[in-house]
Amino acid sequence: MFMHNKRLQYTVRVTESNPGLANLMLEQFGGPQGELAAATRYFNQYLAEDDPGRKDMLIDIATEELSHLEVIGTIVAMLNKGAKGRISEGVGTQAELYRSITGAGNDSHLTQVLYGGAPAYTNSAGVPWSAAYIDSIGDPTCDLRSNIAAEARAKIIYERLINCTTDPGVREALGFLMTREIAHQQSFEKALYSIQPNFPPGKMPGMPEFSNVYFNMSTGDGDQSGPWNKDPTFQFREAQTAVDGGTGLPQVKVSAEEAKVMQQAAQRLKSNLSRDPVTGAMLGMDGGQAAE
Ligand code: MN
Ligand code: MN
Repeated sequence: MFMHNKRLQYTVRVTESNPGLANLMLEQFGGPQGELAAATRYFNQYLAEDDPGRKDMLIDIATEELSHLEVIGTIVAMLNKGAKGRISEGVGTQAELYRSITGAGNDSHLTQVLYGGAPAYTNSAGVPWSAAYIDSIGDPTCDLRSNIAAEARAKIIYERLINCTTDPGVREALGFLMTREIAHQQSFEKALYSIQPNFPPGKMPGMPEFSNVYFNMSTGDGDQSGPWNKDPTFQFREAQTAVDGGTGLPQVKVSAEEAKVMQQAAQRLKSNLSRDPVTGAMLGMDGGQAAE
């Protein structure tokens, strides 16, 4: 069950109303790296998890992400407060109101006019939140890696948002949210490496002759050598076709009846190599002389 405490996980102190900044903050409310995506991602992993330790961690972090959703959503609502009051009461001239919501060259008319100042489940560009942001696959060694990457991306988005505002209270609250993503990334890493072995994911080993090969698939100036493509881990090989030693040509076995209709279609659609057909383009060139 969920319980709710009316106090936030971190105090939100917004110095002044700023609808443009509110819109930028929506990126972490309803965007792909945002808190709603994080909370729902870990919640669905929690529901299916069988390992008691991971199950406990996933619901702790999912619930914390919901608390972050509350913090970032509160920041959006506070930043919108002033403009929300002005627009709902029709204070000032229409021009002044219009300028106050579009002045900074931002999209805040979306939250101001259409959503009335409430945080919308969209990203900062107005794209609706999507369950497609959740890429859980039900294998802990995959999901934990995905979670680690998601926390890393969320940390960077917070860092960028902090760089966009001088409001000390907003910077402090965002700094807390950013810091918690650092903590979560570490928990997920510890949980991943607590599973041994955890690589490669799943039970099936890869084909040993290809597991540690690096193919130089892009040739020309700029080839570089690094630990990602050389000894001791990798055998560096130039690109080649049919690395299995076969012909590299596709094959399929079909029934006699399928072969017959395939033959029939191929015959019907065969190119006539002895013709040089007149085209519409030719008829349109030089008064049609090109076609003669
Ligand atoms: Mn978070
Ligand atoms: Mn997190």
